[in-house]
Amino acid sequence: MRYRNQLVLLASKHEKEKAIAAPFMTRLSCTLRVHDFDTDQFGTFTGEIPRTQSPYQTCLLKAKTAAEHFNYACSVASEGSFGPHPSFPFVPGAHELMVFIDREHDWIIAEQLVSQKTNYAMITINKNSDINDFLKRVLFPSHALIVQAISDNHVVGKGINDLDVLMHHLSLGFKTEKELLLATDMRAMMNPTRMEVIGELADKLALRIATPCAQCACPGFGFKATRGALPCDCCGSSTSFYKEEVWGCIACAHQEYKMRKDGLLKAEPTFCDYCNP
Ligand SMILES: [Zn+2]
Ligand SMILES: [Zn+2]
Repeated sequence: MRYRNQLVLLASKHEKEKAIAAPFMTRLSCTLRVHDFDTDQFGTFTGEIPRTQSPYQTCLLKAKTAAEHFNYACSVASEGSFGPHPSFPFVPGAHELMVFIDREHDWIIAEQLVSQKTNYAMITINKNSDINDFLKRVLFPSHALIVQAISDNHVVGKGINDLDVLMHHLSLGFKTEKELLLATDMRAMMNPTRMEVIGELADKLALRIATPCAQCACPGFGFKATRGALPCDCCGSSTSFYKEEVWGCIACAHQEYKMRKDGLLKAEPTFCDYCNP
């Protein structure tokens, strides 16, 4: 296997090695090395340092900058963004990206995961707000919180995973603010649910790195796009369900077409614009 016994740099100060090291060892026999590297320079969740580039560009930049700085051939970085789920607007969703780079060959192998598994939430509160339901919903105190000022976004406290500490920061914040933002701390080491999703994605990425192209043997062969549309099971007209997956190589033009993972060949009439407008 190509990366056997390779040292791979992880650019993170958020303890993501807890989720990434195991799949990289199991699938690739790679050892992950973490160096103290301030990834906050590329932007923070709290908006203290704005993210100026797309999550993918930010992730790639993290991996490249760290690899150059510590002189590694290979590095890995991850980046998450949170908001309404793309398919279900009322459900919060996590969009996690992970990028592996090989500077020697100039290869970039990336994977992503969209998951409903997240506690991502925030509320605006005043001195009299009842926050008990919110605390239960966001799994506090096993999952940490952030207290932020509404007026200028400044962070009153983050990584808060203790009720007394939370109360202290709230009273501190309300000394100068009428309203405060209470939000989930999405940094991996403060959020076990996010750490779990990062672990799932790390496994997906490691599997992809372990998959060579049948044409040129370059690692990282995998899902690239979808194509076509499934016909309605009743009337045969096209539905919004894609027909098959297109897998591609990161280096050459070789492509393969794979059946949908769910094995569907036709779509239920419920999803047909003609049968069920
Ligand atoms: Zn139909
Ligand atoms: Zn190829």
